[in-house]
Amino acid sequence: MASSHSAAEYVDGVLRRDTALLAQTITLLESRNLQHRQLAQQVIEGLLPHSGGSVRVGITGVPGVGKSTFIDQFGINLTELGHRVAVLAVDPSSSRTGGSILGDKTRMERLAVDPEAFIRPSPAGVTLGGVTRATRETILVCEAAGFDIVLVETVGVGQSETMVAEMVDFFLVLMIAGAGDDLQGIKKGILEMADMIAVNKADGDNQQRAELAASDYRAALHLLTPASPTWSPPVLSCSGMKNQGLNQLWQQIVTHRDKMGSTGELAARRSAQQVRWLNAMLDDRLRDDLRSHPDLLVELDRLETAVEQGEITATSAVDRLWAKYQQLR
Ligand code: GDP
Repeated sequence: MASSHSAAEYVDGVLRRDTALLAQTITLLESRNLQHRQLAQQVIEGLLPHSGGSVRVGITGVPGVGKSTFIDQFGINLTELGHRVAVLAVDPSSSRTGGSILGDKTRMERLAVDPEAFIRPSPAGVTLGGVTRATRETILVCEAAGFDIVLVETVGVGQSETMVAEMVDFFLVLMIAGAGDDLQGIKKGILEMADMIAVNKADGDNQQRAELAASDYRAALHLLTPASPTWSPPVLSCSGMKNQGLNQLWQQIVTHRDKMGSTGELAARRSAQQVRWLNAMLDDRLRDDLRSHPDLLVELDRLETAVEQGEITATSAVDRLWAKYQQLR
């Protein structure tokens, strides 16, 4: 197993850009084995001074929007420009379905064989928190291995989008025209998270409809107050399949980077993400600790019933549970 190396060997291997050791390091930090995880933390600490240098881009969109076709082409364009591109995926459903549909190398055939690219499927975590932790740490490891662009792919389902938006510098939302989601159905939350919207599959017969959809999104975004005074999220149309509009899209990401970098907003965004992440992990750990006491679980069950039947208030149920938790610690 991966832990046949010392922390220094992993660090050295990643810094030397040894692809096998890079993959083994990621396997180590994805492990649920406590010893592996502790070793992984040492490795990450060793790599931390070499990380942070990439443009971190989240890409989301419903299944069928054309994400893998898009990322395959986009990634190729970027490596042709001289960049090194890592593609990671966040797909919390992968442990339930037995395999990730995201980050599957067969979905990005050309990028998968590009020596300047690295594709890693979603870790098979049980919880979204676990998948998120592993992916956040994988970003750092990839940066230390010299990837200057990290694309994090996710599906437009549930909380995973929010989690990805919280680990990137730029959040790109892919849409298509006429998928029944034209504005009415679209989650307002996603518009608020987007740093750019791209209406994909703007080719052939679909081009005009895509342009119309793009102007609808522009109008919708106009009603929102942008999260940053420096950046109003643009709406573009593109075709991943025909490689149209992809360079303009990348130009927008570069412009965003330059602007946010010079105002200090990029650094502020990253630090705020770290602090929120610290608190989210702390919440998880406290909740896990509380639920790890069998007596408390029984008590929680009893209190839930009592609250459900209106016998006590939720507040006093929490007070009682907390008192018991204090005794047990
Ligand atoms: P994903 O599920 O979001 O990863 O979507 P895929 O990349 O697998 O694409 C879903 C389907 O849409 C496939 O049949 C693709 O051939 C098609 N497709 C993807 N991108 C484009 C595009 O830019 N234009 C057109 N016309 N079709 C596309």
